[in-house]
Amino acid sequence: MEKEAMFYRKLGKDVLKCELCPNFCVIKLGERGTCRARENRQGTLIALGYGKPCSTSIDSIEKKPFAQFYPGSKTLTLAVAGCNLACKHCQNWHISQSDIDSVNYDERGVSEIVKLARDLNSNIISFSYTEPTIFYEYMHDIAKLAQENKMKTAMISNGFINPEPLKKLIPLIDAFNIDLKSINSEFYEKICDARLEPVLETLKAIRKSGKHLEVTNLIIPGMNDSESEIKELVGWVIDNLGKETCLHFSAFYPQHKMINVPATRAETVLRAAGIARKLGMKNVYTGNI
Ligand code: SF4
Repeated sequence: MEKEAMFYRKLGKDVLKCELCPNFCVIKLGERGTCRARENRQGTLIALGYGKPCSTSIDSIEKKPFAQFYPGSKTLTLAVAGCNLACKHCQNWHISQSDIDSVNYDERGVSEIVKLARDLNSNIISFSYTEPTIFYEYMHDIAKLAQENKMKTAMISNGFINPEPLKKLIPLIDAFNIDLKSINSEFYEKICDARLEPVLETLKAIRKSGKHLEVTNLIIPGMNDSESEIKELVGWVIDNLGKETCLHFSAFYPQHKMINVPATRAETVLRAAGIARKLGMKNVYTGNI
């Protein structure tokens, strides 16, 4: 069920450059990109996760989290193994940092997913748990069919995607929750092996599109929880996305390579929410506490 990937070009004989996300992986014959989900097979880039969800389940829309997108609804949520980042604190590392072939997955075609959502009385299909950008083609085709069937779609993402693929995707997705992990570029470099700037550009592009947007900040003790950083993050959201933006502060639990970092105390999350409200944010939520 694999499919040729979108957004790549040939650099030379048998060497490909993936242009889906800002990692811009250069992939030699037989190799995979950083996300482990795209492989150079005989000079063609293959989207390995197409039709191979490692997780398909029904959740409440609030769990995504979405506070103001069809509250009270259920959503069929799916993921494919892999990720384009390598966050040391990943809460879903067992699937995000795994190869597609090393985890259990189902073979489910696009129409099967839409039918499954229907059968389970879910009018919303969400792409989450791992990073949906790495299964872009599968998400794109499901979202297109869902739209044709008058269903809604939601993407829960790290926002590390290039402008062109994002532009093509936006018309097919009704709601986005983007993880703004920190407003500090060093945090992105050291903790996530990524860069902050593309995430900020994604947030601005979604806001400009008029699609429903919510933002989540996972607070990790000693890493991104200082008052000055919270103020800076909230200030950026106010200036660039607006005071009405739904902003979620969420608590971290020790996971993956941060097993020795303590869980975030409820007071810390509540304090961040208080700072945001004091600065003028209208829709602030807390989670995981
Ligand atoms: S989507 Fe994957 S293969 Fe493509 S640039 Fe990003 S990490 Fe590399």
